[in-house]
Amino acid sequence: MKTPKEEIEELRRQIREHDYYYYVLAQPVISDYEYDRLMHRLMELEAQYPEYYDPNSPTVRVGSDINKNFEQVEHRYPMLSLQNTYSPGEVTDFYNRVKRLLNEEVGIVCELKFDGVSISLIYEDKQLIRAVTRGDGRRGDDVTDNVRTIRSIPLVLRGDDAPSSIEARGEIIMPWKVFEELNKEREEQEEPLFANPRNATAGTIKLQDSRVVAQRKLESFIYYLLGDELPTDSHFENLTSARKWGFRVSHEMKRCSTLEEIFDYIKYWDKERKNLPFAIDGVVLKVDSLKQQERLGATSKFPRWAIAYKFNPERALTKLLSVTFQVGRTGAVTPVANLEPVLLSGTVVKRASLYNEDMINALDLHIGDMVYVEKGGEIIPKITGVEKEARSEDGEKVQFIKFCPECGTPLVRDEDEAIYYCPNMEGCPAQIKGRIEHFVSRKAMNIDMGPETIDLLYEKGLIKDAADLYELKFEDLVNLERWGETSARNLLNSIEKSKSVPYERVLFALGIRYVGETVAQKLAQAFPSIDALEQASLEDLMAVDGIGERIAQSVKDYFANPKFRDFVQRLRSHGLQFSLNQESLTSKTDKLKDKTFVISGIFKFHSRDEYKALIAQNGGKVSSSVSKNTDYILAGENMGPAKLEKANQLGIKIITEEEFLKMIE
Ligand code: AMP
Ligand code: ZN
Repeated sequence: MKTPKEEIEELRRQIREHDYYYYVLAQPVISDYEYDRLMHRLMELEAQYPEYYDPNSPTVRVGSDINKNFEQVEHRYPMLSLQNTYSPGEVTDFYNRVKRLLNEEVGIVCELKFDGVSISLIYEDKQLIRAVTRGDGRRGDDVTDNVRTIRSIPLVLRGDDAPSSIEARGEIIMPWKVFEELNKEREEQEEPLFANPRNATAGTIKLQDSRVVAQRKLESFIYYLLGDELPTDSHFENLTSARKWGFRVSHEMKRCSTLEEIFDYIKYWDKERKNLPFAIDGVVLKVDSLKQQERLGATSKFPRWAIAYKFNPERALTKLLSVTFQVGRTGAVTPVANLEPVLLSGTVVKRASLYNEDMINALDLHIGDMVYVEKGGEIIPKITGVEKEARSEDGEKVQFIKFCPECGTPLVRDEDEAIYYCPNMEGCPAQIKGRIEHFVSRKAMNIDMGPETIDLLYEKGLIKDAADLYELKFEDLVNLERWGETSARNLLNSIEKSKSVPYERVLFALGIRYVGETVAQKLAQAFPSIDALEQASLEDLMAVDGIGERIAQSVKDYFANPKFRDFVQRLRSHGLQFSLNQESLTSKTDKLKDKTFVISGIFKFHSRDEYKALIAQNGGKVSSSVSKNTDYILAGENMGPAKLEKANQLGIKIITEEEFLKMIE
């Protein structure tokens, strides 16, 4: 029989191997089910024997909710940047200079220049002990907990020949697919979009909650090793060995011995990069021999043995005609540049995003300027520079507006997001019409009316908010210009039909800030009626998986506003769905009456939200933090260590999924 300690260690070793096969080699050798079983067993044992806690156990991959401020730490070796060039001539110069200085055979390793965030990983005794961002090159942020969630980064080096202490440097990246999904989600919630995967990666790696980091599916590539225990003098060979130790190293690196080969590599990747699942912005050339690297040394800014050749982003020069400021339904003001139409990567570009005030100021834009527009990695074209020489005298400097263009209210700036809002939520026509547009949209109430109709009815004074839709009469509509009996009847039918739209979509339709489609579904599950939602405390709201403080606060603010409460009341009186349908309510029991639960970890049988709903349906309560009032902790896999400790201290009963399901059977 194995001791628990032995079993834990064996499981950790096995899971590490499988992580490696899956995330680094992309060749899993066991089924997901088998893998989950091992992980589950390990979590079980770790919960049972907290004395064998290990910060590098594979179970840390899912993150934890412990808040932290990032500590600044000094780099052992400064993290220099790279000499950058867009000119093939300078690549030739680099090659010739290196050859001349060394005066011997030189091998050059060509690598992809990954467009993400650079990271330094420190291993001692083969254990990952620290992960630090580049920072200013001398000091960076300690982001170890977040980096531990990145599956392609080994927590413990594998193999007997792995060095025991080493520094690995590489890039953390977000693949296009993950990036696009993330932005889609943010758009839904009217949150500012990330301009490119690099920004999204940088934002993610500095998040407070490593569980959210874990969900963002970041990836990594290692491209440089430092330490006294490297096996050979060749950078290329060492990186190749690093693969066996568990690091993900790109297979697209190539050893070249002539300029011709180097330019072939550059040309190839300038075309092929479009087909990569992640962004690169150039290639990096490095002298292969470490001895030669040392002989060449470094300037104060960058090593003399490497150079980055950057690809030209596709860009075009065109004229800035005007800047308009659009007010969204949440009041957020977005500046948009109107351009003389120009062809860029195969499409005609007429508008470009200017993001925010800081960007406008940084560009020092004037109307009539000739500006560069790029698409590069970005989805929305953006202005990246101004041809100052071509500036005419009379072009007015572009300034962010101070007052709402729709209602004249002074704008307020949200410092966190560098965004301006029109605070006149109730009176601003742009916001009112925007909310109605949102309310009737397909994924919300699905009422068949376009923005022109909304404009018209609003101008005529027939609707001031979405609740007025349900008071519209045939006579109101039929006499409108260009309307007839058919269109009037169609609209009224469509409005009538919307009364059966389910609760979660009604919730989404309300247009509460940050409550997008998915958030609305989660809220509806956790609070099966609008009354329950209205009464929920900030803490109750935050106890729902995926609901952070910002969303919770926004929901509270909404219901604190009498105007919105009244709006909901009116919708209710018209018969809209404000609770989950009968079916899911009839199963109500009071088996868990007066019992308070805290839910922690990851579950097999139901999602966290489903458990919350189950507890509520059976008369129990859910709380987000462990206290003496907690009766049970429903623990899934990898329960947070802080919660576990507290539960043990207070002697609170920890139950498994199986036990819970028995309770409500
Ligand atoms: P830059 O930020 O444009 O000065 O370029 C330097 C950065 O390129 C480094 O700090 C790394 O984060 C990044 N980089 C991406 N791929 C590589 C690579 N293969 N080798 C070295 N640096 C790389
Ligand atoms: Zn306004």
